[in-house]
Order: sequence, then structure tokens, then C-alpha cells
Amino acid sequence: MPGYDLVIRGGNVVDPAAGVHKADIGIRGEKIAAIAEMISANEGSQVVDATNRFVFPGAIDSHYHVGIYRPFREDATSESTSSASGGVTTILTYFRTGQSYLNKMGPYKEILPELLDLSKDTFLVDYGYHLALFTDQHISEIEWLVKEGVSTFKYYMFYKLLNLSGHSPDALKYLMIDTPVDLGFLYKFMREVSRVNQVFRDYGKIALSIHCENPEIIRVTHEEAKQNPTGNPMKDYSNARPPWQEELAINEVGVMARETKCPVNLLHLSSRKAVEAGMDVSSRYPEVDFLLEGTLHHLGLSNDMNLGQLAKVNPPIRSREDREFLWNSVLDGTIKTVVSDHACVTKEIKKGDLWTSLPGFGGTSLMFPILITEGYHKRGLPLQRIAELSSANPARYHNLYPRKGAIKVGSDADFAIVDIETEKQVTLANLFTAQDFSPEEGMKLKGWPEVTVLRGKVIFEKGKVVGKPGYGRYIKRPVKLHCKD
Ligand SMILES: [Zn+2]
Repeated sequence: MPGYDLVIRGGNVVDPAAGVHKADIGIRGEKIAAIAEMISANEGSQVVDATNRFVFPGAIDSHYHVGIYRPFREDATSESTSSASGGVTTILTYFRTGQSYLNKMGPYKEILPELLDLSKDTFLVDYGYHLALFTDQHISEIEWLVKEGVSTFKYYMFYKLLNLSGHSPDALKYLMIDTPVDLGFLYKFMREVSRVNQVFRDYGKIALSIHCENPEIIRVTHEEAKQNPTGNPMKDYSNARPPWQEELAINEVGVMARETKCPVNLLHLSSRKAVEAGMDVSSRYPEVDFLLEGTLHHLGLSNDMNLGQLAKVNPPIRSREDREFLWNSVLDGTIKTVVSDHACVTKEIKKGDLWTSLPGFGGTSLMFPILITEGYHKRGLPLQRIAELSSANPARYHNLYPRKGAIKVGSDADFAIVDIETEKQVTLANLFTAQDFSPEEGMKLKGWPEVTVLRGKVIFEKGKVVGKPGYGRYIKRPVKLHCKD
């Protein structure tokens, strides 16, 4: 008699809390109902054979940019499909007012409902929002936003002066605001996040994500790099936004976090100097909660590779030495979450020269291939740590735990079932994205998801997307405040 709707049999379960062990998993409805040494096949209405495979908790890609460059609904569907094919079952995506995205400014009381409405019936995987704030009105909405399910916010340091491409000091026009988002604005922002964090402390952590780059320095180094080309666009771009300006920005943020007690997520640390600055402020101000984040592209790429200008991203791809330092920081636990910073973009959207073209690119579906190839196979990163970096840690830091990020009875039945041994070449076809290039294209990677399960439903299986767009659900965070089950 089937007692379960789905049984995953014969796999090696990669439990972020307990390590790797052989177990079968029984699922009823959307939840994990049993984890046992043996559940027989006839107990499941549906059975997934995971023999010789590793059953990870579904990845949570907690840095993402749905709709930044392409029509929102189209982008949400195509890119969440790419995520699903890569074993990512939840995405937490950044949204902001101003140019790009919905190309409008206004209070979030008006814009959030519009955004949630647009999101309906589009995503294939579960999703939530981090919101960037740019006005005093936005700051006054923080407490209300938490009640609407948004518990993390964002500040971009370079927007106090520069636009997104980094070539023009017209941030105000770009963001459609009339008062600069300078450190004074950040001070008010952090103070309010810190206050609201106290209000909701029994439910989770209300935190501020910060893109730490200093535009006053970039304004000068950008010009100098432009005048002194090296013949390698990615080296030029790294020179235009050197690691020390990240370090400087992180130190500014460190002092302000100490004064305001605002929990801070230091985003996409790209270099040794940036990580060391993050470690430095963390040890100098132990009373402040800092999270150090790494990205797949800073871990997977370095600027000695022949990448070309399509790999322009902020902060830039750095040297091989920087990349090795990032890996050591992942191995020793300094970097706690790994994300894609996925922003789907085409060659056409990225047109222009190195200095004027738009930054960013996608990579969400390479979460497991990069962590397993470069981490597990090449550097001995244990599989349990991969489950922590890609799922348990983002779930804890971003208020999804224990509904997500755990292999426990009662948690959402979200899984990435991964073949860690088969090597495949990265092609556009196996990324399932609307992007028409990939900096990783042609690379050979080992460790590809074969089956993705979201809330008890198989949504990707053996190279085919079988879930339907619209199955993904908006997850209000903190889940301890919003989810009663
Ligand atoms: Zn980003």
C-alpha cells in the first residue's frame, strides 16, 4: 500500500546537519514525512531511483536579479527554469526601483503589490525578494515590508555617484531620485534595519545586503585603466575597480555597522583584500552580525582566462591568486554562502565597449557543477559543506530555515539529486537559460543534477524540464513569522 506520494530510494543523502549517509526518503504532499534506512518501492505512488547518486537539499540561490534586463515575466520563467535544471529550488532575488527592472520609482506600498502580481504564475521554483531602498519613504516602509514577507534589504555603495555600467556619474537620473544615496542615507537605512531587527528578533534576522565598492575611487581608477589598456579586457576592468576600493568600502560599512548594530551581508566578495576586510571587521566588531558571501563566477573564473568583455561584472573577475584565496576562504568556513548573482543578459543587451556595456551574466544552473568540480573534486571540499554553502546557510541567514535548507521530517521536500562523477561540457543547451552566451561555455564540469524535486514534485528529470512555470510559490520571510505549518 503506498503510504507516500513519492519515495526517493537508494541514494546517499547529503544532510547539511549530519553528513552523508545512505537513506530513503518518504514524502507526503509537499513535506518530508520519513527518512529511513529502507522504504520499499511499493510504499510510494511514485519512486525516484537515486542509486549511486547524492541527494542534496535543494539549493537556495540567494543572490539573483530576475527582470533586471529583460521583460519581467519572461525572465522569471526562463531563468527559474535554468535554476530548476541546476538543482536550485528557491531563489531570493534582488529588486530595485529606478531604471532597468520595472523602470519606475515610487513607494513600495505601490510597487511591491505590482511586483508580486507580475510574479504570479511565472516562476518554476519558489522565490522571495530582497528590496533595495533609495528614499526616506522607502526606509519608513521597512517594518511594513517585513510584514509583507520581505526581510532583507539592499544598499549599493557605488550608486551614490555612478550608474550601473560605472562610466557615468548620473546615479540620480539612473535611479530616478533627487537626493543622493550617500553614507548619510546609509546611516539612516542601517539604523532603521537595526531597529526593525529588534522588533522581529524572535522570528529571524532582518538584515541589510551591501554591494561594497567605492565610487569616488572608481571614478578615478576607471579613467586611468581606460587610458592604459593591457590587451586583456578583464584585467583592464579589474584595474578600473581595484580590490582595495572594495576593502575601503567594507571598512566604511564595518564602522557604520558597529555604530548602528545593523546585521550586514557583505555581498559577492571578489578578492583577497575584500575577504580580509570582511574578516577584519568581523573580528573587530564581534557584536555585529556579518555574513561573507561568495559567487560562482569569482570562484569559477579568473582574469588570466581568455574571457573577453562579456564577462564584465561588478565587482570584476580577479586574478588567479585572488580566486585561490576565495577558495581557501570557502574551505575554512569564512565565506558562508555561495550564490550565482544571476542576471540574464544577451550579447545584444551587453552591446557597447567594455566601459559602457552593462555588467553581469547568469550562472544559476552551475551551482552544483562548479561547487563539486572546483570544490569537492579539485580542492577536497566535503559534500556536506556544499550542502551547507548552497542550502542550509542561505536558509538560515535569509530566514527560510527550517522550512527550507534542511533534510528533516516536516521540512519542504526540496532536493537536488546529483551525479557527482559524470563529466559534461557546459553548453548553452544544458543551461536552459535565455542567455545567448556563457563565460563558462566549453568548460568541462563534473557534478550535474539529474533530478530536481520541489515541494514533493519532480520538476526536472534526466535532462528534461517537467515542471510547469507557475508552480513556484512566493515565500514570505521570516518563515517563522509567516508560515504556520
Ligand atoms: Zn547582484
